[in-house]
Amino acid sequence: MKTDPFWWDAARPEPTGTVLPDGVSDVLIIGGGYTGLSAALTLAKKGQKVTVLDAEMPGYGASGRNGGMIGNLLKPGLSGLINSYGAEKGCAIYKEALASVDFIAERINEEGIDCDLALTGRFYPAVLEKHYRRMSHDFEVRQKYLDIPEEMVGANDYGEDVDSAGYKGGLRQHHTGGLHPAKYVTGLTNAAMRAGAQIIAPLRAEEVTKKPTGFAVRTARGELAARALLIATNGYGGGLLPYIQKRVFPVGSTMIATEELSENLVASLFPTKRMITDTRKMLSYYRPSPDGRRVLLGARPTIFPATPEVQARSLKKALDQIFPALRSTAVSHVWSGNVAYDFAAMPTIGEHEGIFYAMGYCGSGVAMSGYFGHKAALKILGDPDGETAFDGLPLEDRFYYNGRPWFLPVAMMGYRVRDYFGF
Ligand SMILES: Cc1cc2nc3c(=O)[nH]c(=O)nc-3n(C[C@H](O)[C@H](O)[C@H](O)COP(=O)(O)OP(=O)(O)OC[C@H]3O[C@@H](n4cnc5c(N)ncnc54)[C@H](O)[C@@H]3O)c2cc1C
Repeated sequence: MKTDPFWWDAARPEPTGTVLPDGVSDVLIIGGGYTGLSAALTLAKKGQKVTVLDAEMPGYGASGRNGGMIGNLLKPGLSGLINSYGAEKGCAIYKEALASVDFIAERINEEGIDCDLALTGRFYPAVLEKHYRRMSHDFEVRQKYLDIPEEMVGANDYGEDVDSAGYKGGLRQHHTGGLHPAKYVTGLTNAAMRAGAQIIAPLRAEEVTKKPTGFAVRTARGELAARALLIATNGYGGGLLPYIQKRVFPVGSTMIATEELSENLVASLFPTKRMITDTRKMLSYYRPSPDGRRVLLGARPTIFPATPEVQARSLKKALDQIFPALRSTAVSHVWSGNVAYDFAAMPTIGEHEGIFYAMGYCGSGVAMSGYFGHKAALKILGDPDGETAFDGLPLEDRFYYNGRPWFLPVAMMGYRVRDYFGF
């Protein structure tokens, strides 16, 4: 069993070199995932001298490890957004999350990125009747305020989405889909470099210091100077900036891929190749591989750290429950990565003491991160198009959190209990 992402078989992240730029960069970006690379592409196309640093390789973080499921999932849902911010702002935020899907599809198209993009849709199967009722309520709210191509389907009507018994129906969305995440990150890396961005990896930013004319970033190979700085480290930022560390925390997610299966079997499990995310608190997300030869599933397999073998066993058990036909199938890959949350469970974009940041996609960043990277780039340039409905949302800290998310196992145990007893 391989412990690198399945995606890396086709597109392994590569070092890009460690030659430092001459002189001062207009913008230095820390983090070479979708956020940082998308920002670099926008800035380089606008003639800026851009440098991207990644401590490992572009795509080494979540961008090369995710499920490739494109969505516009904002944790609070439209109802939650309206409750918190009112109908106008709530709808504006939700519309931007929808627009992020169109944005990355256009960018992939424009840049000719070959990443198996397929807008086949997504299905959210309801595990309990109660989940179905809650989803129906949210669906009605969305129908009232926004025009979204989606529908509720009953317990006997989801056969075209997934061949798995026992769901209580669910929500079918038509405007989302999937891609190959590592091919996408490789394509973005190449597009940014083609446009003139310099990507330096592996090279870790060790310390950031404010200077009268910009910033100095210390690395093992010397100091880099830049007029503007963007932090795009999401769940991998560690202690680089205490302001971010106290407000954005990493959460692990693990995925497995099955060995190669017959195309007919995979097609029978996913007749329309939709991406699937269930409604548990500790949710599972699963999909066919882009070539239709494997099944991939992700979740948080264990509350405390565990070996890849233990994690794979736990996820395989979940997969067998969903698809009993896969009981005798072997797992070929297991891998993990970090997503990032803030305390509002909302993506966050902004500026603190002159340093720009974009992150906190709460496990749904394939579309939002590329979109936020672009918006952050425009903000750095002072372009009014950099405005977003997410501007000004509070990025809060908590007195009980100083950079070590000790509360996650407690929260997860609570979620497990709620999932088990169905409340
Ligand atoms: C297992 C898994 C499954 C997921 N599935 C989905 C999905 O199906 N759909 C979806 O929408 N989202 C999914 N996500 C979330 C999605 O992948 C992320 O939201 C998105 O990739 C975030 O991109 P990013 O560029 O902000 O961060 P990342 O891709 O994590 O990049 C951050 C980069 O910063 C670098 N870095 C950190 N510190 C430093 C430093 N000091 N100096 C230099 N470099 C540094 C890291 O090396 C890393 O490469 C998943 C995530 C995981 C882990």
